[in-house]
Amino acid sequence: MRPEILFPLFAPIASLKGVGPRIAPALEKIAGPLVRDLLFLAPHNLVRRPRRTVAEARPEETATVLVTVTDHLKPRSPQQPLRIRAGDETGQLDLVYFGNSALGMDGRLPVGARRWVSGRLERFGLDLQMVHPDYVVEESRVGDIPDVETVYPAGGGLAPRLVRRFVLAALERAPDLPEWQDPAWRQGRGFPSWREALRTLHAPAGESDLSPAAPARSRLAYDELLAHQLAMAQRRAHRRSGASRRLPASDLAARIEGALPFRLTPDQQTSLKEIRDDLASGQRMSRLLQGDVGSGKTVVAMLALADAAAAGAQGALMAPTEILARQHFETLAGPLEAHGIGVVLLTGRDRGPARREKLERLASGVAAVAVGTHALFQDEVRFADLALAVIDEQHRFGVGERQRLLEKGAGVHLLSMSATPIPRTLELATYGDLDVSRIIGKPPGRTPVATRAAPMTRLVEVEDRLVAAVLGGAQAFWICPLVSESELVDLKAAEKRAQDLQLRLGGKVGLVHGKLAPTEKDAVMADFASGKVRVLVATTVVEVGVNVPNATIMVIEQAERFGLAQLHQLRGRVGRGRAESACVLLYDPPLSETAQRRLDILRRSDDGFAIAETDLELRGGGDALGLRQSGFPDYVFVDPFVHRDLILAAGDDARLILARDPGFASPRGEALKVLQALFDWRPETGMKGA
Ligand code: ADP
Ligand code: MG
Repeated sequence: MRPEILFPLFAPIASLKGVGPRIAPALEKIAGPLVRDLLFLAPHNLVRRPRRTVAEARPEETATVLVTVTDHLKPRSPQQPLRIRAGDETGQLDLVYFGNSALGMDGRLPVGARRWVSGRLERFGLDLQMVHPDYVVEESRVGDIPDVETVYPAGGGLAPRLVRRFVLAALERAPDLPEWQDPAWRQGRGFPSWREALRTLHAPAGESDLSPAAPARSRLAYDELLAHQLAMAQRRAHRRSGASRRLPASDLAARIEGALPFRLTPDQQTSLKEIRDDLASGQRMSRLLQGDVGSGKTVVAMLALADAAAAGAQGALMAPTEILARQHFETLAGPLEAHGIGVVLLTGRDRGPARREKLERLASGVAAVAVGTHALFQDEVRFADLALAVIDEQHRFGVGERQRLLEKGAGVHLLSMSATPIPRTLELATYGDLDVSRIIGKPPGRTPVATRAAPMTRLVEVEDRLVAAVLGGAQAFWICPLVSESELVDLKAAEKRAQDLQLRLGGKVGLVHGKLAPTEKDAVMADFASGKVRVLVATTVVEVGVNVPNATIMVIEQAERFGLAQLHQLRGRVGRGRAESACVLLYDPPLSETAQRRLDILRRSDDGFAIAETDLELRGGGDALGLRQSGFPDYVFVDPFVHRDLILAAGDDARLILARDPGFASPRGEALKVLQALFDWRPETGMKGA
């Protein structure tokens, strides 16, 4: 239930004066559907309007000047503007109006009138002029012209100043809200009250108020983080409160582990133990297993699935693409079936009687483990007794999709897996509702990938060496990212690269890009996995996690455009076996110093977490897109770099609040309810509501 005090902010923007059916859609595109969304729209710039005499004023500057109108020079043709001659005792300043905007000026700016005008000045012969002044007000109303004016994102035909007008109207609607932040904390940080912070956001005294590190901006960021952390902590508490089936560590799993051709690494053992402690606790597990591609997550998940089967229950492993699901199936089916555990592979490709038979095996419980794609959570799929769901590359599924799988049983334990390294400082914001296990060390026997950067001018040389290696039996990835303004141009470039290699290698080159149908893409990937295709040229980031042990070369064009975490992930596709592997980062010279340092880290480090952390520092959080792709929330006020210490503080704060006052019964609790409703992080989905 939304507190009444927030009703004015949750009204549609069309409820603001002046926002009609034409303006509302444009405004909605810029900010969102609600008055709140306008209130939360941050200005990205400032314009100062110093007061000047005509003599003081300079061309190219924005200024406010008090002038007296002396004459109207009417246009002699429709192309000519209306020129209103004006000025003060120090000089001449013309006001210029084109087209329809000249209408009615006899009344607004009659000869003899004294007016404050504000706008950008231009030179006109020896004099100054102002074309379409931003403000024209009577002498007594100079207060209507701000000294410092915020500039908002514009769009949809709305001028920034119009957007500003409505933002200020939204600010008028903002009530004083009860304080939800701890008083000592607030004081220590020098944070203003909520309403004061918004006032400063929209009426800053200067540029420093616009910095994300400014107290007002930080306060709003903290509010947003606290609301989110509370929602995640509640979600986690709610999940834990539900009783779940105990799945104890089993002899069966121990036998399967013993039969593996290798021993688990220490990190794998620790992760498995953490998972088993959860599964045996009687409380529902919500755990994330994090580790680079090839670090051995799937094997750990397999042993947990074996525990579920040993308890007479079922487990499911869901992957985002068919080829990944197939690879998981191939990893799991051998060891599990050798020990009497039935495994079913279910993808969108299954049809007719074969599919019916698989569904029957799951519904009857004959098969204890299902591996598959999105096909797994479809309505027709029924389990006899689903107790454990494993979701690979969890951020590639929607919250609703994950939920649908979990709802196929009662109190289903959740194990998420991700190969996307998140800087530790951002982990709490991304996975705050999950417990995290980490596999950092790699299985033994891997040779580090020799990584080097080279300018595009050395393309021919790189191609020569690749061709030689492929003729010698190697396989290679070649990534041509879609980065330019025109996807079509990029695609042409990738096609050309594929053709060039094709000519030199006599076939055996495959191309995958975003425009291919999923089945076509899967077919090319499968040919690459089987070795029929020797070089895979790709415009999109090739499916994370695909395992092609024979691939030993990774070439990435325009490497400087990628996030480091992404580059690291791409590089992780090679170096799977004992053979020497190489990764070549091609860049368009010249490289900026930062870009150089970024690529350098990859040459020096092979630790995904360390790389992600350094990338964040080097770019100062500038990689918003990359962060979002890795699951970092789409915050309004939070800057992932500047506010990273606030993330941790908000997490602690939220846990303390829920430990002390889980029902929000205290006065601060009442205020926190308002905070949560204000940001409206939906506890059930972890997403921001409208
Ligand atoms: P991930 O799921 O993290 O991408 P996998 O579990 O698929 O990694 O493991 C990648 C490869 O490494 C597989 O071929 C697997 O058999 C092998 N592997 C896993 N753990 C070990 C280990 N401890 N020692 C040697 N090889 C391992
Ligand atoms: Mg994997």
